[in-house]
Amino acid sequence: MNNKSGAILVLSGPSGAGKSSLLKEIINDIGECYFSISTTTRPIRDGELDGVDYHFVNEEVFKKDIEEDNFLEYAFVHGNYYGTSIKPVKEALHAGKLVLFDIDVQGNTYVTSRLGDITTSVFISPPTLSELKKRLEARSTDSKEVIERRIHMAKREIQRISEYDFLIVNDNLQEAADTLKVIANAARVKIPSNEINDFVQRWEDIEDI
Ligand code: ADP
Ligand code: 5GP
Repeated sequence: MNNKSGAILVLSGPSGAGKSSLLKEIINDIGECYFSISTTTRPIRDGELDGVDYHFVNEEVFKKDIEEDNFLEYAFVHGNYYGTSIKPVKEALHAGKLVLFDIDVQGNTYVTSRLGDITTSVFISPPTLSELKKRLEARSTDSKEVIERRIHMAKREIQRISEYDFLIVNDNLQEAADTLKVIANAARVKIPSNEINDFVQRWEDIEDI
């Protein structure tokens, strides 16, 4: 079996659950990986960088990308479009990297249905709804209305935890990051079913002596 075939790790969870914070904590400790930078029509927040956190575009550009089939998946979330570009993901997978996705529950459904063999999914949850509200308010990046919308969505997203391989409750950041690190490293050695037969065949054919 060739561990160089690449793998996908999906992170989902309510906005404000701590997905970006956790990724920052683990990114230097999980080997060669590529963070899939999504394209979005949402306005840029203070502290975010175009091309680093997202590719920020207007609706016209986003719709052109849809028409040209540039997205592996895309979704309308909290009133804005978000999409995952296919090209860099393909390149990273071919290079044997672990590809990290921060996408919503709709994106996870699509990615696991098409690439389930090489995908491990993790739902990141805040300990409670009131803690989520506190974190969104403390982050101070969204208006009151946007926070209300995100809280409303969180109640729906949390209903879909059972669609994921793992659940991490992000209470203590360091503990949650340690757990995520273990899962990320395990995701690399998930066995794609189409490679099992090849592996068994080669394993039986090889004579050491
Ligand atoms: P997401 O990427 O899921 O939207 P963020 O990583 O931006 O969430 O986190 C939302 C806010 O909560 C940020 O201000 C972050 O610093 C804070 N935060 C993240 N994890 C924790 C934690 N375990 N305890 C307290 N605050 C946290
Ligand atoms: P935020 O605006 O807080 O950065 O993200 C809002 C939501 O959009 C989060 O749930 C995040 O996971 C999701 N999201 C970000 N990029 C993508 C993407 O490319 N595809 C999908 N389906 N969801 C995304």
